[in-house]
Amino acid sequence: MGSGPTGYSAALYAARAELQPVVLTGMQLGGQAALTYTIENYPGFPDGVGGAQLGELFQKQAEHFGAVTEFSSAHSVDLSQRPFKVKSDDEDYLADTLIVGTGASPTHLNISGEVELTGRGVSYCATCDGWFFKDKKVVVVGGGDSALEEALFITRYASSVTIIHRREEFRASPILQHRAREHPKVDFILNTIVTEIVGTDKLEALKLKNVKTGDETIYEADGLFIFIGHIPNTQIFKDQLEMSDLGYIKVNDKMETNVPGVFAAGEAADPHFRQVVTSAGMGAAAAIQATRFLEAESE
Ligand code: NAP
Repeated sequence: MGSGPTGYSAALYAARAELQPVVLTGMQLGGQAALTYTIENYPGFPDGVGGAQLGELFQKQAEHFGAVTEFSSAHSVDLSQRPFKVKSDDEDYLADTLIVGTGASPTHLNISGEVELTGRGVSYCATCDGWFFKDKKVVVVGGGDSALEEALFITRYASSVTIIHRREEFRASPILQHRAREHPKVDFILNTIVTEIVGTDKLEALKLKNVKTGDETIYEADGLFIFIGHIPNTQIFKDQLEMSDLGYIKVNDKMETNVPGVFAAGEAADPHFRQVVTSAGMGAAAAIQATRFLEAESE
């Protein structure tokens, strides 16, 4: 389940082990990585590679060895007996083993105006929506790699990009911090949170609060990009697979879940690394273990 780096790496290994893997794509073919404009830290691409392009390469390579792609999203699973059942709107899939590579989705700020103005100035994807903010004033919220990387991407279009972060220190890697600080279009508002998104048909302004002084201000902006982390897409496995308090599927060092024959990998099971290369590696590991699991059964 899942068509990001995890799903297609698992499918590649499973296909080469002649296990006839079927990849259920989920809503986003290629996963979150496909929404990234350039990936500069996936080994083998010294000049970087487009996220969507890398996703297509993953898919092509897995399909070359016999993996089948189903453009389908699962809405429920039954892991109580084998074969495991995965239900989508169109079809029920039966599987001897299941590899969960459902990834994660962006966290929301959960403030007034966010839902109403999503797609009307509020966005979670710079690659998808950056173009709409040509010569506009954009705010980015967050202090991690995503926020700084995407802020730098938006400078291609926007007249200015203001990064609002709730602390003074950034989680983002030093190289991204350096690039952002040096960029003439980027500025920062620190120790500050957005408390409300204001606008009727489109975003007009943000209500800000300085967390140190308590001062509240109104900040006019055309766009707000929110990059404050992710939550794992594991809701449909609730009560069937063991999870952490944050919803990450618990796996051992062989990618095994509490249900024999069900494996989980990538961001659905990984709160620590969350890189394209680590997700791909975990997907491959899960498929190797799934192969061993089936082999042990047939002995
Ligand atoms: P992240 O590293 O978890 O950073 C989330 C940021 O959002 C933090 O700065 C956090 O502030 C802030 N935040 C969280 N909740 C907030 C809230 N309610 N209001 C305001 N701010 C809030 O998430 P990420 O940037 O998406 O990165 C996720 C993972 O992907 C990381 O492991 C990262 O290294 C990786 N990644 C790597 C690259 C790359 O290598 N090029 C690119 C993108 C992502 P605090 O710092 O105060 O907690």
